[in-house]
Amino acid sequence: MVYWIHIARAIDRVTLHRDRCSEVPSSVSSSDFWEGGWFDYPDKDRALAAMEQAGTTDERKCALCKP
Ligand SMILES: [Zn+2]
Repeated sequence: MVYWIHIARAIDRVTLHRDRCSEVPSSVSSSDFWEGGWFDYPDKDRALAAMEQAGTTDERKCALCKP
């Protein structure tokens, strides 16, 4: 299982998704951890750690895929 986080700096939010969530884009263009974008992690612990490092105010889990 791969987990994805979506960093949206413009709205100060990071969201956790599971692999194959319909919100995860099929192809991820270049993204920068400090600028925001989509990032994949091989396990949930690493994804959660990355969410904390993102430093956004709002940390969410996707309501669609319920990671
Ligand atoms: Zn999702």
